Amino acid sequence: MSTLEMPRVSECTVEGCSYNADDACRAFAVTIDDHSACGTFIPLGVKGGLPRVNSQVGACQRANCIHNQDLECVAESVKMGPSGDTAECLSFQARG
Ligand code: SF4
Repeated sequence: MSTLEMPRVSECTVEGCSYNADDACRAFAVTIDDHSACGTFIPLGVKGGLPRVNSQVGACQRANCIHNQDLECVAESVKMGPSGDTAECLSFQARG
């Protein structure tokens, strides 16, 4: 992967998020916090985002993930899913 490419969000099953449409994310990019929670998740009563599905991980603060390099995600793609009432990165893997 080129350093100018960001990892795609290949799937997100968090239906309650305003950016979610048919198990995909329509935000231009998402930010993941230091607990691998999706910081872009927002459960508003309206749907939003772009009219296309091409979301990417813009930044990730989960430094102890094997896919994290200098607080950026270098995975090919990531999957997001529910975590309680919010959303998290399911592709997180702790460094050994
Ligand atoms: S795979 Fe790891 S580095 Fe990439 S977004 Fe998920 S938690 Fe962050």
